[in-house]
Amino acid sequence: MTTENRVHRKHIQRRNELVETLRSKSIRDERVLMAIQSIPRHIFIDTALENRAYEDSALPISCGQTISQPYTVAAQTELLEVKKGAKVLEIGTGSGYQAAILCHMGADVYSVERHEELYHKAKKMLHELGYRASLKLGDGTLGWSAYAPYDGIVVTAGAPVVPDDLIKQLNIGGRLVVPVGSQKSQVMVRITRVSEDSYQEEHLQHFKFVPLIGEKGWD
Ligand code: SAH
Repeated sequence: MTTENRVHRKHIQRRNELVETLRSKSIRDERVLMAIQSIPRHIFIDTALENRAYEDSALPISCGQTISQPYTVAAQTELLEVKKGAKVLEIGTGSGYQAAILCHMGADVYSVERHEELYHKAKKMLHELGYRASLKLGDGTLGWSAYAPYDGIVVTAGAPVVPDDLIKQLNIGGRLVVPVGSQKSQVMVRITRVSEDSYQEEHLQHFKFVPLIGEKGWD
């Protein structure tokens, strides 16, 4: 077997182990688990960290940001209840990993990132993997009104409050999943738009995200 093949097999084996870890942490949605099993997380991070790619932990990417912990990605994706063909907006493209997971699940993905370097890297990476997500460089606290309404909106950075523009860009029946709290700790909030003017709000587990910075976020 060539070295390349051996490395490839090792990554597949580690991804399978990661999926088992996520199952043991109560991730139940098989479609989410299948996406995690399929997407090569190691290519979204620096080669120096490659051997840690399938640990269940957040890892540094450029611009002082992080690729979220796989458990966090799985939990947020599960909460979105993404159906094939659903239109999903992500705020905080970062490495592009979460966007790849959503694409793999058959969503029509839109994602906004405020750091130019990350935006370009993620765009290249998703293109190389053959995913057609629409990416934008800008302030995601304002959403992306041009393509609204969305069936799902996921914010992958911690917000001080729920950004109201995002609520307005939800489709009826759509869900907004956003971590809200201080810069040290946030509670996962899920808001479902029940009708034109009524919403249901759920408060779930605690997490720790990098801050959501922008007009409707932190300074
Ligand atoms: N979903 C990413 C996680 C990246 S961490 C992944 O899978 O890798 C959160 C990202 O949110 C960072 O890249 C950060 O730059 C970005 N971010 C923070 N505030 C933002 C804003 N107002 N608009 C867009 N992106 C923002």
